[in-house]
Amino acid sequence: MDKNEQLSRRGFVAGSAAAGTVAALAGTVPAFAKGKKKAADGKVRARAAFDASGELKPFEFERRPMGDDDIVIDIKFASVCHSDIHQERGDWGPQQYPQVPGHEIVGIVSAVGRNVTTFKVGDRAGVGCMVDSCMDCPSCDHGEEHYCQKGKTLFTYGYPDEREATGITQGGYSSRIVVRDHFAVHIPDHISLQEAAPLLCAGITTYSPIMQANFDVGDKVGVVGIGGLGHLAVKLAVAKGAEVVAFTTSPSKVADIESWGAKAVVVDGPEALGPHRATLDWVISTIPVKYDVAAYASVVKPHGTFTQVGMPDGFSLTVNAIALSMSRVKFNASLIGGIPETQEVVHFCADNRVVPDIQLITADEITAAWVKVQNKEARYRYVIDAATF
Ligand SMILES: [Zn+2]
Ligand SMILES: [Zn+2]
Repeated sequence: MDKNEQLSRRGFVAGSAAAGTVAALAGTVPAFAKGKKKAADGKVRARAAFDASGELKPFEFERRPMGDDDIVIDIKFASVCHSDIHQERGDWGPQQYPQVPGHEIVGIVSAVGRNVTTFKVGDRAGVGCMVDSCMDCPSCDHGEEHYCQKGKTLFTYGYPDEREATGITQGGYSSRIVVRDHFAVHIPDHISLQEAAPLLCAGITTYSPIMQANFDVGDKVGVVGIGGLGHLAVKLAVAKGAEVVAFTTSPSKVADIESWGAKAVVVDGPEALGPHRATLDWVISTIPVKYDVAAYASVVKPHGTFTQVGMPDGFSLTVNAIALSMSRVKFNASLIGGIPETQEVVHFCADNRVVPDIQLITADEITAAWVKVQNKEARYRYVIDAATF
C-alpha cells in the first residue's frame, strides 16, 4: 500500500475528523525529529500482572520504537475494565506474564512519526482495545478493524507482537504507549481526560450496539447489569431518547440509576422476571459472568433483539434453548466498535455531557480496586492517575 492509498483509506474511515486536520498539522516534521529522541529514551513505568493471582506489581519495560505511522502518547489516565481482570486472571485462557493490562487509555501526544498527519505533539489522544489491524480487508476498509477479516486485529495487551521486547502488546496501566496513528482517537477539549478514558472500551462497547439497534425515540430499552458498561449503556440510551429499564441485583445502585434518567429499575433476580415478559423493544446485557440468558431474553418483545456484550469466564454462556425459543427473540453479541465509531462516541459524549461516574485511584490501589469490581462495589469506573505509576 503506497502513501496515497494509505491517506485515502485513512481519510475514508476517519471521515470529517481527518479532513480539517491534515492541513492544520502541516508543521509536524520538526516535532517528529524532536519527539523521536524522547520516545527512544528510557523505560516505561507500569503496573503488571506477574501471575493469575489478580495482584498488580510495579514493572518497567521498553516499548517498541516509534515507526513512521506511529504516535507516542504520554499516558495521563487509564481506567479499569472488568476485562483486565478476566484476562490477567486467566479466565479466558493462559497468559504470558509480566503483562500490563489496560485498554481505556488517554494522554497527550509526545511524538509523531514522519507519515503522521492526523496528530501533532500536544494533542489529547485516546487508545482503546486495539492498536493495529491489516488495514486492507473489507472490514478494515469500512472502519470495523475489530472484525478484520484477515484476523490481524491486534488487541492492546497480551497479544503476540514481535516488535515488542516482551513479545506481546502491553497495555495502558503505564506511563507511555506507542500506537499506529489510525488506532488513536482525538479527545476534544470539552471533556476531561479522566472522564474520557472509560469511553474507549465501556463507551464504545455499549454505543456501537445501541447504534446498530437503531431504536426510535420512546422505545423501551433494557440494560442488564449496571457496572462500568451498564451504567454507560443507561446514560447513552437515555441520551438517544429511549425509555430505559435497568436490571440490577444491587439495591444500593437504584438511586444512582434513577438519577441517570432510567424510567424503572428492576432489582429482582431472573426468577422474578415474569411480570416484565415481552415488554421491551431491545435489551443489552453487560453481565460478565454466567447467568440465565433466556430468562432475561424473555423480557424482549417477540421479534425483538437481545444483545450480549459482557464476556464471562471462558467467553461462554449457556442458553436454555426451549426458554429462548418460547420468546422468539433474536440473540446476538457485539464486540467493542471500530475506530471511526470510537471517535464518534467520544464526540457524542463530550457534546451531550454523557460522562461516566468515576473514582480516581493511584497505581498502588489497583489490586484493591479489582477486588471491588469483582464484588460489584465499583461506582462505576476506577480511573488510575498515570502520574502514580
Ligand atoms: Zn474493556
Ligand atoms: Zn483487516
